[in-house]
Amino acid sequence: MRGSSCSDTIGKLFMELQLHFSKEKSSTRREFIGLLASAFPASRILLSSDAVFAAASVSPLTRNRAPLAASAFTLLPMGSIRPAGWLKDQLRIQADGLSGHLDETWADVGPNSGWLGGTGESWERGPYYLDGLVPLAWLLDDAALKAKAQRFVDWTLEHQAPGGMIGPSSNNDWWPRIVMLKALTQYQEFTGDDRVIPVMGKYFQFQLSELPRRPLRDWARFRWQDEVLSVIWLYNRTGSPYLLDLARLLHAQGYDWTAEFANFQYKSRITADYLKLNAGGGLKDLALATHGVNNGQAVKAGPVWSQVSGSAEDRSAALPMIDELDKYHGLPNGMFSCDEHLAGRNPSQGSELCTVVEYMYSLEQSLAICGDPSLGDRLERLAFNALPGAFTDDMWAHQYNQEPNQVECSLHQRPWGTDGPESNLYGLAPNFGCCTANYHQGWPKFAASLFMRSGTSEQDEGLVAAAYAPCEARTTVRGTAVQLIEETDYPFHGTVRLAVRPDVPVRFPLQLRIPAWAAGATLSVNGQSLPSVEAGRFATVDRAWRSGDRVEMVFPMKPRVSRWFNGSIAVERGPLVFSYGIGESWVKLRDRGMTADWQVFPTDQWNYALDFDPDSTAGSIAVEEKQIGEQPFARKSTAVRLNVKARKLDAWRPQDGAADPPPQSPVVTDHPQETIALIPYAAAKLRVTAFPLVKDQA
Ligand SMILES: [Zn+2]
Repeated sequence: MRGSSCSDTIGKLFMELQLHFSKEKSSTRREFIGLLASAFPASRILLSSDAVFAAASVSPLTRNRAPLAASAFTLLPMGSIRPAGWLKDQLRIQADGLSGHLDETWADVGPNSGWLGGTGESWERGPYYLDGLVPLAWLLDDAALKAKAQRFVDWTLEHQAPGGMIGPSSNNDWWPRIVMLKALTQYQEFTGDDRVIPVMGKYFQFQLSELPRRPLRDWARFRWQDEVLSVIWLYNRTGSPYLLDLARLLHAQGYDWTAEFANFQYKSRITADYLKLNAGGGLKDLALATHGVNNGQAVKAGPVWSQVSGSAEDRSAALPMIDELDKYHGLPNGMFSCDEHLAGRNPSQGSELCTVVEYMYSLEQSLAICGDPSLGDRLERLAFNALPGAFTDDMWAHQYNQEPNQVECSLHQRPWGTDGPESNLYGLAPNFGCCTANYHQGWPKFAASLFMRSGTSEQDEGLVAAAYAPCEARTTVRGTAVQLIEETDYPFHGTVRLAVRPDVPVRFPLQLRIPAWAAGATLSVNGQSLPSVEAGRFATVDRAWRSGDRVEMVFPMKPRVSRWFNGSIAVERGPLVFSYGIGESWVKLRDRGMTADWQVFPTDQWNYALDFDPDSTAGSIAVEEKQIGEQPFARKSTAVRLNVKARKLDAWRPQDGAADPPPQSPVVTDHPQETIALIPYAAAKLRVTAFPLVKDQA
């Protein structure tokens, strides 16, 4: 057979099998792939990548099973969405950086890991790494990374204790197992590996019998909702009632985040002295309740629990919780401060990288459960600013804490509440190694959450664009295989194009998130513009879709201003936050195996106050757009720059490597007006993001 006719034959066979399996709802993806392999052994090449991706379209959708409350949306099974364009480049940078090599250079996830049967680190770091490595490896279809992840998975699945416990026998802490379960559920969706479900079932039965004697404590007690997600995942696949008993027990033993935020007490910076005075240090409740990562994970506690409780209040609980965190600890990069505990609104306070990726994961899950579009806005703000801001462009080094006003990254104790002097260095494991193990989940899970499915049964199914970035999705809607291709330079440019390709014409609603900042957004289908697109809501296009239909959205990318600590202002455009990029001098502190730890010192002055009318930015902010570079967030090739008027402000100074809080605006200064360039937050590793405003304009 010639090459072309061979691939034609494979393609035809493939489509026939797909059609067959889309009718056999009970068939698993593994059976489908197995049948494909046996039917056409020469198609091995398909099996390595395209078959897994295409098979997602016949994977049974696992909506919530009664008596669980229906979710607004359902995340597509892992493998349904593939990154494209700049997002694929970003994931490739991650894989070619420390993520793809961490086990080769950091013993904590190396060959002696307890999660590989060794005597090394046996707590959270192996599972943390796997929780991001699995989706990264499979989204990129990278054989070498899959092999690395597979070793941890295989060891875990093959070394379950007779009683049901999983993981290294050197500790029995529930917490690292919670993380491993998250990794296993993703792995099962990608591969259909039939070992996963029995192992999880046996573990959960064991835990149900063990928890009354040995209840959740410290980290697991404050992060119980992350395990409930995995319990629900399994319940939706097996329907075993004991799983709901386990979910209720986890909730009963877990910390009551709803009560904490119904009467939120932690309204100012939590210092080491405060913790000491209130006898709340170490792993006591006060330290854990005000701990940044715990709060980031807890954003989803209400929505996750609402699936069991059925309570509307629980379901929307992420929104008031985010409001409280914003009000007392909110920063312009979309984060709340946490260095290491909640730290107030001064933009020189830091946010831990673990909190960034955990907050993102909470937003992805909460958006799916409660369907509120503002959660998508926040997810994008974190993904496009705080997440890439914490890494070097090549993703070989990261920070523990990042600051919106980050004027130096050096060995200083100030301004951290309870963290150490390395906290904002770029390196292998500055301050503490949790983020080194945990950051890998940020980009891959974001990519896997871009599209979701709506509806509570096959009859009312639809698709949802939850967040925007270039990708391709394949799924089934109302029994018909549908491919979506999203082409966009968003968030750098404002146009998003979707090609909708159902196998046969099929009617369903396509819901498109219109960000709250996107007043004046337009939406068209096949060139015909549709009326009434409202910012801050989902726009719904309910029609009979035919292959080749094209949807186009244009989000106006007008620069705008937001207000922060001491009346300071930040400049935004679309979902991007902009910063003044201070000149950077990178000084190596020490080599760290395949990577290094870096201090970064400023090479020019940064103490600018902005000098324009914040209520009328049209004439005072000049926009320059360029093509996206190979490293989408790199300073050397920024895709957008904003030129603004500013004046130096002598009264604003640094102390011990940190900028003082921005002086209360409006401010007075004698310096002449200059034009300065603002670049995307993540491109500026030394930056000013929250600026004082000059008096004339206030
Ligand atoms: Zn961390």
